[in-house]
Amino acid sequence: MKRQRIAVLSFDVEQDIPPFSNTWRGVEEGLPRIVQFLEEKKVKATFFFTGEALKRYPDKARELYDSGHEIGVHGYKHERLDKLDHDTACKTITKATNIARQVVGEVYGFRAPNLQLPLTLLKCLEDNSYTYDSSLAAYKPPFIRKPTRIGSLVEVPVTVTSSILRLPWPIQARIHKHLSSIRVYFSHPWEYTRVERVGIRLDISMNTGNKALTLLEKLIDYLAMNKFKVLTAHELARQLLRNTT
Ligand SMILES: [Zn+2]
Repeated sequence: MKRQRIAVLSFDVEQDIPPFSNTWRGVEEGLPRIVQFLEEKKVKATFFFTGEALKRYPDKARELYDSGHEIGVHGYKHERLDKLDHDTACKTITKATNIARQVVGEVYGFRAPNLQLPLTLLKCLEDNSYTYDSSLAAYKPPFIRKPTRIGSLVEVPVTVTSSILRLPWPIQARIHKHLSSIRVYFSHPWEYTRVERVGIRLDISMNTGNKALTLLEKLIDYLAMNKFKVLTAHELARQLLRNTT
């Protein structure tokens, strides 16, 4: 059987460039651009919101959900969970999860801020009735490269770091070619607003704004041309659960 080609597009909805900034241009200006663009391309994505973003912009989350996108959770105030003690970290997850369920009802997936999730917190995700976690990165220990069952959860690791999607197309095209046949991309709404380079790293400001959107379009066209099915992270996790139970 031919190997399935699946791609997930995900966006972490948070304040701008945490912890460098505390503004919300990404949600106010970047997110509508992404949403309009996905609609034109007829692609559904997963949006991991912080609890804070959900409290500030519940209508944006509901609108996304009502138009068929998935809403997940990305911490409460984008706090690094690995810097908190276990109980505080779990309470933070629970608090953000409760807000998300109040706003949109159904929430199945979690992604830790900065992709930093101590593995002991997987139990907390189970207790909060999550179906999957998407906090591990294929390029960081323990190097889980494809969706994997861990207890009752599915781990849906991200495949590459977000700034890859803002590299000049000829360079990133070579990278996409060598990624696994099931891949999870992520970026942030603030990357689709113009980020000025003010004392921050070049990889943060490079090709932000309209250039980022043009590059996202190239990626979606590349995925279509190479017969990738674009699923939400929850659809991918469910597919794995169906195949392993
Ligand atoms: Zn984040």
